[in-house]
Amino acid sequence: MSQVFLIGEHKDGQLKKVTVELFGELARQGQTPVVILPVPPGQDSLVQELAKKGVTNTVLLEHPELAQYSAEGYANALYAYLSTKSPSAIIAGATGQGKDYLPRLAAKFGVGIATDCTEFAVSPKWIVKRPLYAGKCSKAVEFLKSPAIFSVRPNVFPSPADKPVQAQIEKVKGEVGSIRARVVDIQASGEKKIELTEADVIISGGRALKSADNFKLLHQCAATLGAAVGASRAAVDAGYASHDMQVGQTGKTVSPKLYIACGISGAIQHLAGMRTSKVVVAINKDPEAPIFQKADYGIVGDLFELLPLLTEELKKLKSQS
Ligand SMILES: Cc1cc2nc3c(=O)[nH]c(=O)nc-3n(C[C@H](O)[C@H](O)[C@H](O)COP(=O)(O)OP(=O)(O)OC[C@H]3O[C@@H](n4cnc5c(N)ncnc54)[C@H](O)[C@@H]3O)c2cc1C
Repeated sequence: MSQVFLIGEHKDGQLKKVTVELFGELARQGQTPVVILPVPPGQDSLVQELAKKGVTNTVLLEHPELAQYSAEGYANALYAYLSTKSPSAIIAGATGQGKDYLPRLAAKFGVGIATDCTEFAVSPKWIVKRPLYAGKCSKAVEFLKSPAIFSVRPNVFPSPADKPVQAQIEKVKGEVGSIRARVVDIQASGEKKIELTEADVIISGGRALKSADNFKLLHQCAATLGAAVGASRAAVDAGYASHDMQVGQTGKTVSPKLYIACGISGAIQHLAGMRTSKVVVAINKDPEAPIFQKADYGIVGDLFELLPLLTEELKKLKSQS
């Protein structure tokens, strides 16, 4: 019988939110996917995390080489396992990793791939929707060959409520094959940042911030909101923010519940990365700035006056709650 497989993602022994979001949406559509996790041996606690959300079937694809992510290791191990299972669909998050290994997996199966989808359904064939032309429109894609392989943008679907179940684990020796390139060193930035693509609230700054030092205004406001801080490309190019904070066509794609754009004009390339945000608030001193066309709430004014006021008010609200 053909089966739907969801490839889970994890980091530092924790599941990525997108995995449970996708499981929740599949379950809502009446699917019972098998969640497959490429892991080094000894990661059984991930299965318990999944079981809390209602995942009954988990496959741990184990190999010591999988302690370190590599596109080849993941694609080889996943293909060796999944090619024996006649899957109807293989789904993963459209994360940095998903964008890296999933096309390789599709190539091994000899089928097409749809990336960065924002909707999916099966009726009876798998059909997905994905944004086109930097989000100006979207297209529906039907898969003509099996398996349907696609990645889905994080934060598009809500996290499902807890629904604890008894988990069944299948442990399989991962066949990673030969890996021609591997990461030899990771230099962490030192700060513990909320990952932009997983954040529920993002406050982003643009060229108008004028300096890296002024980004402190955003960080202070973000601290009261539990938000992640993002930036426009102009701010990144000017050296005010690091590239991992860039939102947009050549940066990260985000879909938070709340996106606050401060001193960002709203260029199409920026909108491409945040247009699926649920609520957008814009602060800009130019009432004609294009960002106001996308914003649900807009404040026309100087961010250097408004941001400290906003932070103060948020602190007051927080102390009352
Ligand atoms: C191929 C390509 C890819 C690109 N990819 C990206 C991408 O991934 N992400 C991205 O962001 N851009 C991207 N860009 C760049 C994009 O076109 C814009 O240049 C960029 O988004 C502009 O950044 P900005 O809004 O910060 O700056 P600006 O366009 O200069 O806007 C600054 C805004 O701040 C307002 N402002 C000024 N002072 C204040 C103040 N004191 N208070 C309040 N408001 C104030 C101004 O009114 C203005 O609207 C890309 C461009 C190309 C060609």
